[in-house]
Parts: sequence; structure tokens; C-alpha cells
Amino acid sequence: MELEFFGAAGEVTGSCHVVRVGGRQLLLDCGLIQGSREDEARNRDGFPFDPGEIDAVVLSHAHIDHSGRLPLLVREGFRGPIYAHNATRDLCGIMLEDSASLQERDAEYANRKYPNKPPLEPLYTVEDARRVQRMIEGNHYNEKREILSGVTIRFQDAGHIIGSTSVEVWLEENGVSRKLVFSGDLGQYDTPILNDPAVMGEADLVLMESTYGGRRHRERSLTYQEIGEIISEAEAGRGNILIPAFAVGRSQEVLYTLGRNYDEWGMNRWHVFLDSPMAIEASKVYWEYPHLYDDEATKFRRNLHEMPRLKNLHLTASTEESMVINKVRSGAIIIAGSGMCTGGRIRHHLVHNIERRECHVIIVGYQAPHTLGRRLVDGEAEVKIKGKWLQVNARIHTVGGLSAHGDENDLLRWYRGFDNRPPVWLVHGESSAARAMEQKLQNEGGARARVARAGERIDLAGEL
Ligand SMILES: [Zn+2]
Repeated sequence: MELEFFGAAGEVTGSCHVVRVGGRQLLLDCGLIQGSREDEARNRDGFPFDPGEIDAVVLSHAHIDHSGRLPLLVREGFRGPIYAHNATRDLCGIMLEDSASLQERDAEYANRKYPNKPPLEPLYTVEDARRVQRMIEGNHYNEKREILSGVTIRFQDAGHIIGSTSVEVWLEENGVSRKLVFSGDLGQYDTPILNDPAVMGEADLVLMESTYGGRRHRERSLTYQEIGEIISEAEAGRGNILIPAFAVGRSQEVLYTLGRNYDEWGMNRWHVFLDSPMAIEASKVYWEYPHLYDDEATKFRRNLHEMPRLKNLHLTASTEESMVINKVRSGAIIIAGSGMCTGGRIRHHLVHNIERRECHVIIVGYQAPHTLGRRLVDGEAEVKIKGKWLQVNARIHTVGGLSAHGDENDLLRWYRGFDNRPPVWLVHGESSAARAMEQKLQNEGGARARVARAGERIDLAGEL
């Protein structure tokens, strides 16, 4: 009985861990490595195990850094099944296909650009992504399910995006039983739309994310106040506001927040563009699972008979509709992907707006090192977009309070939900963040915490 850390150990993306029990192998997540071109090239390195010998995958949530290598796993011989929450299954249908078409386009581009180099195969194709989709078995929260002999799981709400889970895993082998809890990505407490992360009770070992170890989010009310101020400033300066946002989670939260503050922020004087086919599709999934909302969103929805859809919201799915936005010089709030500005339509909007002093960029999510989003956050005076160097004259605002991830106090609060004080292995954090969280858990949580290293194996049957 053992656990091996494979991805998102000492880094944030590429979440993937292997559990071995009674001759069976189970993967927890199978995420894509995201970041710089060099980082992403590591997705091609292959798995350190035979995908054909993996008996099942348990997927914590739909974000690509947790699900994005599933099509590759299938391409290399994995035959299913994949267990996830129902909403995660629906979101994966959207996200993995998008990821696959991006891979196909990248390969096509590289082959056109370098005709003399050996042709580059896409990492995986849309067909691979569709095969993954057929293998996903949807689950509800809070239902125990035996998935392999000696392996029982239960999904609990992680409050991170719709359908996100922390997973309880009960393992049994030769009369030894262990309970492992995999946190997945944990949301903030009191986050809009979603419920708080569930309380887990007990565990023998905890595998926990640490994205915001050592960091505190701003109080949400201050964040709202700041967004309100940015909106008035942009209105006075007659500029636009760009919000790079992940299609799933951030986009819906931003829309909800604009709706919730509609009168206060004078939203009737703005046009809001959700300029991302994927975010539009993902929003529909959010609207289809109202029973997963928290009390506030449920009440809000009941009064409006649906999720707040802004009166002046434009869902611009087609390229033509998106191009029209380029002509808008003021009064537009543009929400577009990708969340870290590494691709997608946000780059077009940055080209059109970033050199204009009267425009504003609101960063609402985590920005990995080396990404364009991170360069903006770090205050670089010039950035290269679509082959052109552009002056950063627009105002860049980083409003931490809207993060989909809990901060270190949220993580500690989640850990304190355990009745016993189980040992913790920290994953899914840059090493400084993971180390800070290790200290915090030890000093304030009374935990034996340590940072997981890629390739490290833990004997689960032994002393933990
Ligand atoms: Zn996530």
C-alpha cells in the first residue's frame, strides 16, 4: 500500500498522484503542466508508469491543471473508468475538448512555421478528449462508493469551483486499513455562489494543496470596494476594463459579483462582454446546478427566478462578435480567457487596450511564473504580445480577494476540521508557499506537516 507523488509536488500545476493497493493502481487527478513554453514541454515527457496498468482515476475537479492530461493517459493506453462529480463531468466535456483543439492548433502552427523540422504531433486530439468524456462516471457529493476491491471513495464539496471535491479514500490491504484525504483545490470560505469546503472528520493521512501558503487574501469587502473604485475611475477616464479570467469559476464569480453590485456600481452605464465560448458554456453548467449554491446565491436566484444575468451582458461566442468589441473605446468590461493571458481572446483585447492610459486590467486569479499575466502583475513596463512589444500604460490592478483558492488561514481552518491531527503532505504550491504552509500547520495546527517531493513514495501500511 503506497502513495507516490508524481505531479504538483513542489509546483502548482500538473496535479497527479498514484495510489497502489492490493496490486491495483489508482490515480488522483491527471493534470496538465501549465506555465512557460519550457514548463509545458514537460507534458510530452511521458508518464513514469504504464497508463495501461492504471485501474481507475479519481478526479477532484475540472480545472485543466487537474484533468488536462487525461486525454494523453487514454491515448497511451488507459481504459477507464474515471470517477468525478457530475458537474465536473459536464465541465470536462467543455474544457478537455478546448484543451485538445488548442493542442491541435499549436502543432499545426509549429508545423507550418518550421516546415523543415520533423512534424510535431499534437499532445492529444479532440477525439482523445471525447474518449475521456465517455469514461467519466458522474457522482454526487457525500455518497460512498467502492470503486476497486479494497478502495472506497466519497466526494465532498471543496468550495473551489462548481462540482469541485475533496476526496476521502478508504484503502484496505491484508487486514490493514487506511483513510487518505486528498484536499483537491480548496476554495475560500464565504466565496460567492459556492458552499464552504466540507469538514472531513478524520484521516490517517492528508494530501493538501498549498497554493496560497504564506499569503492572506484581502478581505472580500475591501476587494469589492476596490472594484467599485476601478469602475468609477474607468468611467471618468472613458476607458475599458479587461478582466482575464479562467473560463470556469472566476468568470462566473465575476459576473455574479457585477450582478450583486449592479446598482451600486452603476453597471447600467456599462456593457459587459463574456468573450469566451468556453466561459459561456461553463456558465451554463453553473446555471444547471442550482442545488449546489450557497444560501446567498440561492436566495438571489429565487428572487430573480434564475442566476443573476446582467441586463447588459453580451455573450460573444463567435469570432465576428468578438472582433466587434475591438472597436469599443470606452464603457466595456471585457471578461475573457485565458486566465493567465497565455492564450485566448484576452490577448487581442490587451493589444487593443494595454497602451491606453485610460484602460484598466483587473487580475482576479493566480498567475504562474513566466506567464504574461505574471509579467503584468510584476509591473513590467513593456510586454510582448502576438510578436509585438507594447508599452504597459493601462493600470494593472491585482485584486487578491476573488481567488478561487483559500488563503493560508482558510487552509488552516480546513485542516482544523479534522478530529484527529493527521499527518499532512503538502502539494500544489510553489516551494516557498508550501514551506510557509508547512510552518503554519506545525506551529498553529499542531500537525506533522511536510512538503511532498516529486517521485517520493510513502509506505501507507507503515508508520505515518
Ligand atoms: Zn482548481
